[in-house]
Amino acid sequence: MLYEIKCSWCGQSMGTKECEPTEFTLKLKKMGLPIISHGICPKCREKALEDANISREGGNHE
Ligand SMILES: [Zn+2]
Repeated sequence: MLYEIKCSWCGQSMGTKECEPTEFTLKLKKMGLPIISHGICPKCREKALEDANISREGGNHE
């Protein structure tokens, strides 16, 4: 089954991926809904990592 991959941060489409169908995705298909799998695009991944580093270095002094 073909899944559409979208970035859950910015919503950018990252193409499609072939995956095993599940009970849930079969149900979506039967309802005529798109099969969307959420991921994170390289750009947002970089930003998320950067944010994590900044917050780690920022406030939390032990
Ligand atoms: Zn993104």
